[in-house]
Formats: sequence, structure tokens, C-alpha cells
Amino acid sequence: SSFEQFGLDPRILSAIKSMGYATPTPIQEQAIPVVLMGGDVMGAAQTGTGKTAGFGLPLIQRILPKANTSMSPARHPVRALVLAPTRELADQVSENLVAYSKDTPLRAGVVYGGVDIRPQSEMLRRGVEILTATPGRLLDHVEQKAVNLSQVEIVVLDEADRMLDMGFLPDISRILKLLPANRQSLLFSATFSPEIKKLAKNFLKPNPCVIE
Ligand code: AMP
Repeated sequence: SSFEQFGLDPRILSAIKSMGYATPTPIQEQAIPVVLMGGDVMGAAQTGTGKTAGFGLPLIQRILPKANTSMSPARHPVRALVLAPTRELADQVSENLVAYSKDTPLRAGVVYGGVDIRPQSEMLRRGVEILTATPGRLLDHVEQKAVNLSQVEIVVLDEADRMLDMGFLPDISRILKLLPANRQSLLFSATFSPEIKKLAKNFLKPNPCVIE
């Protein structure tokens, strides 16, 4: 099997080729078709399984404008939001999303705490369609009105169990309440603890596709 089978846009296939990916990993085989169809996903996946491309490639396709439509330079609302527990993970995910979207007009960026907020605010004011963030710093930007989340179409909770372990549940809940109700939601976690199941029940559509 190959990446050709999913019907991905040529601008995404060219990025996959640049990355040197030849064959989809098992989680990619399962996740890509579901995400492309707009379904919610609850995925059990550790880092190293190819999960980032599993959600990142179809996420890009979902928000990708048709070929040759030029985007207004003035408006780049956040349309896909990825929440991650740490600066390191957020950076790593965002680097991948930048690489996967490099042949498209979409812009990707990342914000996290522990560093000067101002360059991040400037990046947000210029606009990104794909934003990766740690929860606390994202809320700082929301409070400063540097970012508006009302146009988000897809949200990803990456390493959700670690985010809960780190005490991010109140921040995550606040963020998810700022998003449109009719969005697509993807939750990835190493384990499906009762807390994770509760998070999924509260914020995913009923009967998400479970990938293990
Ligand atoms: P992840 O689990 O998303 O952190 O990915 C782990 C590593 O596998 C990263 O270096 C990816 O670039 C790489 N990777 C993801 N998907 C594939 C694939 N289909 N073929 C080869 N490498 C991949």
C-alpha cells in the first residue's frame, strides 16, 4: 500500500515524497481515511508510530483551498488547532506540519510558554491557518486578543493523557469552549483512562472512530 490510495492532493503527496515516506504506518492507514471524511477520532498512539502524519496530512487536506485559488493576504484565520503538552512536542509537531504544508498556500506556526510572547503575537497577527500550541500560552494569546479561535474547523489533542497529568484540563476545557461546536475533533493518548474517556465524552461527537 502507498500514500496514493488516500486521494491526497498532489501538493501534499509532493511533501510526503520530500519527507521520504514510502509506505503509510498502521496508524496512518487507519486514521487518514477517517480524518479525510470529517470523522472524530480517539486514537491510542505513542510517539514514534507516525501519528503526527496520521492526523497532519488529512488535516491539511481538509482545510486546503482548491488549486489556483489565491488567498486574501489580509485574512489567515486559524482553521486547525493542535494542542500539545510541552514546548518540545509542540515544536516537533509544528515542524512536521510546516513540512507537510510547504507546497500549499497554508501557513503553520507554534506558540508555547517560557519564551518571549511578543514574536508569537506578531506571528499570530500576520496570521496562520494551522496553529500548534501549549494550552496556557494559547490562553495568554486569547486574553490579549492576539488570536481568535472562532474559525477553527479541526482541533487535535495530542498526548492528551500527558496534558491531563500536567494539570491542563481546566485550560483545555476553556479552549474547547471557544471553538465552534460543529468542528472535527481528534484526541490522541497513550492510554484511555477514565479521565480521557470523560474528556472524549465531553468534547468529541458521540461514537468517535476508535483507533488502537
Ligand atoms: P511520530 O510518531 O509522528 O512522531 O513520527 C515518528 C517519525 O516517523 C518521524 O520522524 C516521522 O517523520 C517519521 N514517519 C512518519 N510517517 C512515516 C512513514 N509513513 N514512513 C516513514 N517515516 C515516517
